[in-house]
Order: sequence, then C-alpha cells, then structure tokens
Amino acid sequence: MTEVFTGSFTQQEPIPEEGIEAAVAVMRAGRLHRYNTAPGEVAQTVLLEQEFAAQVGAKYCLAVASGGYAMATALRAVCVKPGDRVLTNAFTLAPVPGAIAAVGAVPVFVGVTENLVIDLEDLAAKVDQADVLLLSHMRGHLVDMDALMTICDGAGVTVIEDCAHTMGAAWKGVPSGTQGKVGCYSCQTYKHVNSGEGGLFVTDDAEVAARAIMLSGSYMMYEKHLAGPPKEAFETIRYETPNISGRMDNLRAAILRPQLRKLDAQRARWNERYYAVEAGLRDTPGLRAIDRPAEETIVGSSIQFLLKDWSAQAVQEVLARCLARGVELKWFGGAEPVGFTSRYDSWRYVQAPKMPASDAVLAGIIDMRVPLTFSLDDCALIARIIKAEVSAVYQAQTT
Ligand SMILES: *Cc1c(COP(=O)(O)O)cnc(C)c1O
Repeated sequence: MTEVFTGSFTQQEPIPEEGIEAAVAVMRAGRLHRYNTAPGEVAQTVLLEQEFAAQVGAKYCLAVASGGYAMATALRAVCVKPGDRVLTNAFTLAPVPGAIAAVGAVPVFVGVTENLVIDLEDLAAKVDQADVLLLSHMRGHLVDMDALMTICDGAGVTVIEDCAHTMGAAWKGVPSGTQGKVGCYSCQTYKHVNSGEGGLFVTDDAEVAARAIMLSGSYMMYEKHLAGPPKEAFETIRYETPNISGRMDNLRAAILRPQLRKLDAQRARWNERYYAVEAGLRDTPGLRAIDRPAEETIVGSSIQFLLKDWSAQAVQEVLARCLARGVELKWFGGAEPVGFTSRYDSWRYVQAPKMPASDAVLAGIIDMRVPLTFSLDDCALIARIIKAEVSAVYQAQTT
C-alpha cells in the first residue's frame, strides 16, 4: 500500500485561551491604541515590550506592525541613507532586500554555504563595500556568530539581525538578535508567535531605540515607553526624526504575551518534530542533510535538505511525486519565484552580479514547514514518503 499524508502544512494551533481572554478584555475596554490608556494603566503593548526585552536580555524593545517594518526602521535608526549599500544574504526571503529598498538603499548580496548560512569568506571579501549588514538567519540557520561579529567589528560594519526564523533560538546560549546592534523579529502567522501581523525590535543602544520609537509614530508620547530609553535620549532626536507610522496595537500585544511565555515549551515541541523528520531522512541516497552545529539552539519550525547537483527535471519529479502523496515541498532552485521561494536573482530591482557557488547551493535547496499541528507519527510518515520518492528518482537517474 502506498502511504499518503492528508494533513495541512499551513494549519496553525489556536491562540492560547489566555490570549483570547486578554484580547476580549482589550476589545471590551475599547482602548486598542497603545497610547490610549486609563489613568494608572500600563498598555498591553508596553507589557509585551518589557517582557520580550527581559526574555532575550535586551535593554530596549519596541513592538511594531511587522517584521519588515522592524528591519526598515532598524536601517533608518542606524542612519542608512538613500543610495547607501547594505550587505545582506543572497539566500533569504523577499522582505529582507525589500526593507533595504524601502529606505532607498542598495542590497549587496553575500553568498550562502552548503550549511545554508551566510558565506563568511564572501562576507570578508565584501565587508568594505558597506557600513551595515542586514543579516538574515534564514530558515533558522545560525552562522558562527563569533566569527561573523569579528569580521564586522573589524571593518566597523553595524550588524542588524533578521530573526524572523530564530525567535527562541540561540548561539552558544546567547539569544538570537542580541549580538548585532538591533534584533528584528516577526509575529506574523507563519513565524514562532502568531498575531496575524506584528514585529518586535530590540537593541541596547539608547540612541537607536529613541530613533526607532520616534520613527514608529510615538508623537511626543515616548515617555510612555517603559521598555524605551530615558527621556534625555529623545532631547534632539524628537525634533529630527520623521514619523513613519508602524505601531503595534494592544489587541495584538494581548494575544502575543501568553505565546511568548510558552516559547521555550514550543521550541521543544518543534524540535521533537524536526528531529523526527530528520531521523527519517537519514541515509537517503542523493539527499544531503544540513548539519546543525553544537553551538546552535534551534527552533525547528522548518526543515531543509539539499539535492545537490541534481538536474532541475529530477528535482521537479521529486516535488511532484511527494505532492501526489500529500507532502508539500518548496524549492529555492526554480527558474521562477513561487510563493515564498525567491532568491537574489528574482529581485530584479537590484543589479546583482551572478554568484555561481551560491547558485549551485540554491539550485538544490528543498524546504518544508514543520507546523506544530503535525504529530510525531505525521513527521515519521512524511519522512518515509520523502525518502521513498527521493530514492526512487535518484535510482532512476543513476541507472
Ligand atoms: C517573514 C519574514 C520577514 C518579515 O516578516 P513580516 O512580519 O512578514 O514583515 C523577514 N525575514 C524573513 C526571513 C521572513 O521570513
């Protein structure tokens, strides 16, 4: 009998009851805007910021409208100007170069290795071309952060971290997003906490925090930001910084707070599922698994593997055969961007030179979401299906 998987790759868990109750309370009160508080009341948004800052060990936190907004705000807050060049990953998702384009700056792409992290040799070669690196921890893969920071610090390059896939992850126990100048997180439905849309911004730098708060549209209400810097930090910044509204509201914050309290437990559940899939894929001929370094604390909300040096036709056959059995795989090597799978040469508003070594890696990257609604049995079944179909196509190719 041919096994088929019948579950959904895009079904999320419900919002925790506690979050639903808190959201209903906000709606009953009618005070959804973050600065609309009753006397003595601390807004849900402020509580969220205080709690997230404490959770990752950052001095300051700002809740915003999206992860993309957090990144563009970070670039503005470190004073990136139109026409400036900004280093970033060749392997990432469209909102990352999009944030650079949003401030009128120009992405300079850095290559990807077979372990799906930024290529530090390529970074070292290009580090003199820009003052800022927007580093994307794409699909949760953390590069050797000590080596990366040594390269960037040595060249005076400011690092902004895109932690859309690493909320809850760490490098040598240091929470992702706290080694660069700014850490940016997404609270969008497909990330690690779910408020539909939303973003978080953390930094230890009082000036950067003050600029970000002004940029987000705080009018002159910055003293209400209990997770922001002291009011002296705003002395001149409040006159010089444009308002580019992108605040978070109390409804989203209310939904997010209980989810953040559960983040460590969710990480354990994600990783059980990730390692169940990974174990099932082991020793598949033609399939290269991605080694995860011991220094990395992962959040296995998606899994990748490489079909390295496979023809496009053979990869497409694997995708089609898996899909016929209910397993939705995404491919970063396709000629056309489909869904969320785009790559540096899909973003044609950037004049990017060809990167042959990265192209060879990108051509083989297969990606799969691992939602928490999968059971461990689902994960084992999915792995059996992938293993069988990859093996079948591989054998047909080599005989
Ligand atoms: C989702 C995502 C973002 C931005 O998140 P939004 O909240 O959707 O703006 C940034 N980087 C990566 C890699 C993402 O996947």
